[in-house]
Amino acid sequence: MIDGPVWHPFTQHATEPAPPVVQQTDGAYLDTDRGRLIDAISSWWVITHGHRHPAIMQAITETAARLDQVIFAGLTHQPAEDLAAGLVRLAPAGLTRVFYSDSGSTAVEVALKMALGYWQARPGGAGSRHRIVVMEHSYHGDTIGTMSVGERGVFNAAYEPLMFGVDRIPFPTGDGRNTGEAFRALAATGEIAALIVEPLVLGAGGMLMYPPDILRDLRAICDAHGVLLIADEVMTGWGRTGRLWACDHAEIAPDILCTSKGLTGGAVPLAATLASEPVYQAHFSTDRARTFFHSSSYTANPIACAAGLANLRLWEAGGMQATLDRVAALQAERLADLAARPGWVNPRRQGTIAAIDLSVAAAGYLAEDGPRMRAHFLDHGVLLRPLGNSVYVLPPYCVTAADLDAVWGAIAAYRRG
Ligand SMILES: *Cc1c(COP(=O)(O)O)cnc(C)c1O
Repeated sequence: MIDGPVWHPFTQHATEPAPPVVQQTDGAYLDTDRGRLIDAISSWWVITHGHRHPAIMQAITETAARLDQVIFAGLTHQPAEDLAAGLVRLAPAGLTRVFYSDSGSTAVEVALKMALGYWQARPGGAGSRHRIVVMEHSYHGDTIGTMSVGERGVFNAAYEPLMFGVDRIPFPTGDGRNTGEAFRALAATGEIAALIVEPLVLGAGGMLMYPPDILRDLRAICDAHGVLLIADEVMTGWGRTGRLWACDHAEIAPDILCTSKGLTGGAVPLAATLASEPVYQAHFSTDRARTFFHSSSYTANPIACAAGLANLRLWEAGGMQATLDRVAALQAERLADLAARPGWVNPRRQGTIAAIDLSVAAAGYLAEDGPRMRAHFLDHGVLLRPLGNSVYVLPPYCVTAADLDAVWGAIAAYRRG
């Protein structure tokens, strides 16, 4: 049982043990009151280079000495301007405008609003196209809007009455033609405003992976029918999939891209929704009713933007590709070793992310093994949070071979009840 005033996210206080208290973070490690943990899930996918990367922490300290939050309507500041220019340089081609917010969910909400705003401004106007297509098993956040475009299940059943309707396409199986065919039929109706996808890896849906050519097909169908493509790169961005963006593997550019988790290297919260010129121009008008009506209080926090800029400089300095390749190779070896053992099925990897399923009769998020596995990993000094019976390792890029040996060793040592 967990007691006290803090209500933890995605946590059943009645059944879970009191959590360790984190006292210091360093690289791939979390030092707690119960000893050191290897952070094998990058603290829920946000930490990229490692905890407290010196360049990022220095940017935060220096900026905090002269700036804190300032209103971002009617004012601007250099960290936001420089970061936006840098994001446009690094993003897939054609994404020329940067709208800041403060979480992945908000970045997605902004993307959906931009897409509807785009169609509102087209001939035919209001309601000309308002339907959103989503992929089965997707996750885009926990607000009402982002739950609406995500998979429905035990997480959001209670909120169903408040959610808006969307059209769903199946997760790609086999050659993935099932997905393309379903999407082509929907796109042909002329009612679809946008398709939103997690490119290549569906994170919270179970680290499900599909190849780049399917993403390329979806882009082509969007082009053929004038549907906007929204890439939710909140988890996949900043190198997780082995390239800076998952979209880079498919050599495509979305019309709208959402980024958050790794944007500041994970140090402080920040999000951005990048838009193509047509999406921006649809809102650019002497008619003030066409303004993009969205803001968060902490939009473009200067300290967070400075952290983002320091992260961006690490990417622009070169050497990141070699770092990603190193982590990917370490992961591939260890995943193959575990996959050769009995009791483990469905090994999969995309870049630095590796996942495998415990072979169980009762799968799914509420599978009994989830909490048991988590406790087992903590006992082994490893922070892992299986998604149901799927175990995934998504480490910060400073992780060593010895760290990963410890992580995969702990997974291999798990024995069922
Ligand atoms: C985590 C996540 C989000 C939501 O981000 P928050 O910062 O938790 O609101 C959205 N989309 C994807 C793909 C994510 O993994």
